[in-house]
Amino acid sequence: MAVIGIDLGTTNSLAAYWDGGEVRLITDENGQTLFPSVVGYIENEGLTVGKAAKERLLTHGKDTVSSFKRFMGTDKTYELGGKEYKPMELSAMVLERIKRNAECFLKEEIEEAIITVPAYFNDKQRSDTKNAAKIAGLKADRLINEPSAAALAYRMKCQADDMTLLVFDFGGGTLDLSYVECFDNIIEIVAVAGDNYLGGDDIDRLIAQYFCRENGIDTEGLDVGKYAELIKAAETVKIRLETEKETEMELSVNEQIYRTALNDDVLFEICMPLFGKIKKLFLRILNDAESSVSSIDDLIMVGGSSRLSVVKRFLTELLGKEPVVLGQTDQVVAMGAGVYAGIRSRNEDIRDMLLTDVCPFTLGIECWHKETSTQGYLLPTIERNSTLPACVHKKLVTISDYQTEISVKIYQGEEYYAKDNVFLGEVSIPVEPAPAGRAGIDVYFTYDINGILYVEVANSQNVRRHILLANQKLSDAELKKYMKDMEELLIPPIQMKENQEILAELNRYYEESSGNLRRQLGYLIMRFENGLQSGRNHIVRRVVEDTKRQLELLEARKECEEEFLFDGELKFYEEDDIMQEEAEGDDYE
Ligand code: ADP
Ligand code: MG
Repeated sequence: MAVIGIDLGTTNSLAAYWDGGEVRLITDENGQTLFPSVVGYIENEGLTVGKAAKERLLTHGKDTVSSFKRFMGTDKTYELGGKEYKPMELSAMVLERIKRNAECFLKEEIEEAIITVPAYFNDKQRSDTKNAAKIAGLKADRLINEPSAAALAYRMKCQADDMTLLVFDFGGGTLDLSYVECFDNIIEIVAVAGDNYLGGDDIDRLIAQYFCRENGIDTEGLDVGKYAELIKAAETVKIRLETEKETEMELSVNEQIYRTALNDDVLFEICMPLFGKIKKLFLRILNDAESSVSSIDDLIMVGGSSRLSVVKRFLTELLGKEPVVLGQTDQVVAMGAGVYAGIRSRNEDIRDMLLTDVCPFTLGIECWHKETSTQGYLLPTIERNSTLPACVHKKLVTISDYQTEISVKIYQGEEYYAKDNVFLGEVSIPVEPAPAGRAGIDVYFTYDINGILYVEVANSQNVRRHILLANQKLSDAELKKYMKDMEELLIPPIQMKENQEILAELNRYYEESSGNLRRQLGYLIMRFENGLQSGRNHIVRRVVEDTKRQLELLEARKECEEEFLFDGELKFYEEDDIMQEEAEGDDYE
């Protein structure tokens, strides 16, 4: 019973498996690895999937559906042969064929698959993907993010220690950029950015426009069939450019044959508007990751459209160095999934790797500002894009005098007012009656990769209450198991021994020092605490490293000179920075 990895793509899907020591792609009876994610209906025959269906896209557009992955997680339906199908069901058909294909190829029954999904897929899209697998007769307990899979495929080849990667996945209809940090056996997505309407299809359209402009053809005058033919011809010359330096696009319109020559230089010009958009996305992701181009060790090119040499040329200019090309770019994600399938089946020849997930939405608590208490706002606790599992600690205080209880209402969403978000649950705890702001509680949010949220609250007498919120029905046994797992996770970075020691040392220095140095140490302590409570693992990591370095500096200086202690050696934090951080700490229940 084997486990395989599947890249369930918008345009194409493919599968791979771990073959004692290396990853291999699964081919169909014609030796092909790419399986078009297309489903069609043939009169009197029924449904058809894959290449056969793709070939009918042009001629039988009404009876053929593609790109349904874009609508995964929605209730959109597609009509085929008089019946309605959801994206989940269509995906199930693709998966089922891939499963059968793999069984033929491996001569073994396939029960389980590691399926890749875009990093930004939300809970619903993920659970629909799992359900599609279930319908196809596959167990898919573990979905992995496409960029993590690509990074994993790269890590298999290049065993350097820590590195920062930018995964550039340029497919048929989408571009996904992911900023990924790799250290030890962990692959962590720090930020994602993308465009759901930027892909190889757009290049086809740009080539078609160029062709028509050069030949004086009015695209408006073309019928649907001719237009489809034009686009198909554009895609064909695009793909030919991978192997030919100079090629020609040809199309007959109204019995006249038109031709236009094309080479990389021309294509580079044609793609300019698209490159402009890519550059903007680049800047955005670097900004989100609080980073710069120079911190990227390698850029990995992924997806069918990355096979274009003009794309590589553009990226080389943008990056100032050559990107990494791992074999065929449209196979990288599947290869990573195949590697993970090997890990999953506990192959001894492969090191266990931890792929983190990101939380696609914000989880928070309803709070009130002291003065304007008419409507509660949502205090983000686990922020969108936090790495999972995440554990965040917040302190809340009472807002009314002699309040006897604090009730923590938990919401999911991005809106300012709590009521505009999705209410998940509530947990209450008694507090000592005291003037407003004088009694407080600690709240711990723990959210894991299975979409289970565990909230624990504790008051000053150490009375503890908790609530477990899951997006799926759990049996009693599962519930018990999750509770146990969650309790283990429930050590927020700020309470970890190592970090407590750093904090104690900082405090010791603070006590000993005076003047400017003391002020700077104050900022350092505040920054350290804020960083630990950010809920973003990469920020926690950075702040811990940074603070440790500062402590070493302090230590070294102390040993050599007493009088001019540390002057100018500590990083000085801007006033603005401090103001903002202080304001953030100012929350009321
Ligand atoms: P997805 O991840 O969206 O399912 P793929 O990564 O398989 O898609 O990429 C599909 C896209 O790659 C299509 O737009 C196709 O035209 C393009 N493509 C495939 N082969 C080549 C090639 N040799 N040169 C340029 N583009 C290619
Ligand atoms: Mg893809």
